[in-house]
Amino acid sequence: MGVALVTGAGRGIGLEVTRQLATAGHTVYLAARHLPSGAAAAQSMLDAGLDVRPIELDVTREEHRRAVAATIRHDHGLLDMLVNNAAIHYDTGNRATAPDWRTVTEALDTNPFGAWQVTLALLGLLRRSGRGRIVNVSSGAGSLVDMDAGRPAYRLSKVGLNALTRMWAAELRGDAILVNSVCPGWVETDMGGPGGRPVVEGAAGIVWAATLPDHGPTGGFFRDGQPVPW
Ligand code: NDP
Repeated sequence: MGVALVTGAGRGIGLEVTRQLATAGHTVYLAARHLPSGAAAAQSMLDAGLDVRPIELDVTREEHRRAVAATIRHDHGLLDMLVNNAAIHYDTGNRATAPDWRTVTEALDTNPFGAWQVTLALLGLLRRSGRGRIVNVSSGAGSLVDMDAGRPAYRLSKVGLNALTRMWAAELRGDAILVNSVCPGWVETDMGGPGGRPVVEGAAGIVWAATLPDHGPTGGFFRDGQPVPW
């Protein structure tokens, strides 16, 4: 059984990914930027005897990233799975020809740059695993093949995240760390809104990528375990 960390895990898809990984027997750090909310979200899993550990992590804050790395280093000395799930600003009302710059900046600071910096903070621990897995929770909205009008902040942020997947996969091949982007599909959450599929289904494809066997794919973009175009 392994050690996992899921960002943005206090609600939505991240919470369900945490539940599924913990149910499979892994130790899971439920990272939430507001610790009391994360602790409340973890309670039912703790009551069920699962090894879920709420931890404070705003992905944009260096002191949080450092503290998380120190805690995991102290407790385990390694990290097997990192799920970069935290994201903001599905900016449906905006267009690339009329962007809201504050929204663009915040989306980039959180979605790709937050994931980038969290990954760097935890990279030494992932290398120590000997079979690390990094899952970047992306979106079909970040696919260049399907690029279309609107949602500029969100789309650009996921394009950036997908590029990081490709770079990290190439740079970490020698460390036996598998890195993939996963689109969860349209999922009914605060971000997805009503009408999407249940979180259980959206989370399953992320858990699949987090628990790939050795010699599994790396540098790919997947939905429900199947490749999708960049
Ligand atoms: P939600 O809006 O329901 O949850 C987003 C989570 O990210 C929350 O836990 C939120 O924390 C957290 N978060 C936001 N900013 C930060 C930050 N700075 N530091 C740490 N955590 C942060 O979204 P979903 O669960 O729907 O989305 C999860 C992932 O799936 C995202 O990457 C999203 O882009 C992707 N996705 C979702 C789809 C959908 O249909 N729902 C479709 C395609 C992709 P807090 O509670 O504190 O705000």
